[in-house]
Amino acid sequence: MKTKFLIAAIAASMLLSSCSKVGGEVPQSTAVVQQEPVQPDTDNEEPVEDETNNEDTDGENENSAEEAQDPVFQIDLSLKPNELGEVMILMYHGIGDQESDWQRTPENFRKDLEYMYQNKYQMISLNDYAMGEISTRAGYTPIILTFDDGRQNNFNYIEENGKLVIDPDCAVGILQEFREKYPDFDVTASFFLGTNIFGQKEYEEEKLRFLVDNGYDIGNHTYSHNKLELLESTEIQKEIGAVNNIINRLVPDYDVETLALPHGSNPKDEYVSSMLEGQYENIKYKMTAVLDVGWRPAFSPFDSMNNFKSLYRVTASETKVDNCGMYDYFSQFEENKRERFISDGNPNVVTIPKKHEEYLNMEMVGNRTVNIYE
Ligand SMILES: [Zn+2]
Repeated sequence: MKTKFLIAAIAASMLLSSCSKVGGEVPQSTAVVQQEPVQPDTDNEEPVEDETNNEDTDGENENSAEEAQDPVFQIDLSLKPNELGEVMILMYHGIGDQESDWQRTPENFRKDLEYMYQNKYQMISLNDYAMGEISTRAGYTPIILTFDDGRQNNFNYIEENGKLVIDPDCAVGILQEFREKYPDFDVTASFFLGTNIFGQKEYEEEKLRFLVDNGYDIGNHTYSHNKLELLESTEIQKEIGAVNNIINRLVPDYDVETLALPHGSNPKDEYVSSMLEGQYENIKYKMTAVLDVGWRPAFSPFDSMNNFKSLYRVTASETKVDNCGMYDYFSQFEENKRERFISDGNPNVVTIPKKHEEYLNMEMVGNRTVNIYE
């Protein structure tokens, strides 16, 4: 076993000769590594170090052993990681008794979550996606859940035996159920709010506190739900700033940095900057990700085609109109008609197949190590 390990380590040191700066330890520089497919060998995972070997003055061996511990070397290429594949940002609205384009029944929402879990999707927050912080397990695909409009059926309190509890059939109730059922699903979601904060005015603060304390995110869906394309700079800043200020008063420790465009309406070009950054009543806001309405999966955050100012979403319904419901895309991924993002398991390494190399957005990659394989 030791011989095998040494051969692998030496091979690795040859393959990774340009890799002295891996791991993002050196700011302002990005290491690009060409990784050849290495058959995963369980023997390599826990190398037994011989004490006599440690005293060896032969620096090359020590070096090789070090490089075998390298995060890039540990990436399992047999899982076909593809961190330039697509990521679905699902657009939900209501959860209620009547199924429609804008509403899932509790039963169907549970079915969606079960499908995702059984098919190797793992939830991440929109905020992490926007930062390229993908900590999804190796071989799994990140997926993002969003809910627009702040309906009461997203987060509803009911009384049970004189006690206030979360309605088990509202969105948050079902998400909490799956969080308990599958702890490794990393359940989270973003709720995009305007002036209506899940109905039940008396519990607004309590609900937002619960979301923040339990790892959910709150986004902005504007004050009046008007089309931003019809507004000028001051109006846009009021639409966004007023909602940020309301949320900020209720949960002062939480910064709202994401926006879902009402009706998917983008502002005129000259006002895009007012959407991304502005102020209202002397309080500033800054948006890192802006969401369109649903029609197709989003690009990887590392894809140069991606536009964080107008991110694609997928309508979370089953209707087959134009073949762009969530299950249409799930099956296209299954049938390899589209490529889904498959994580390499290491948030500090971006692993991609060589054929996609030209699409890599190096600015977004930042200090992460790029790992390219054939
Ligand atoms: Zn809306």
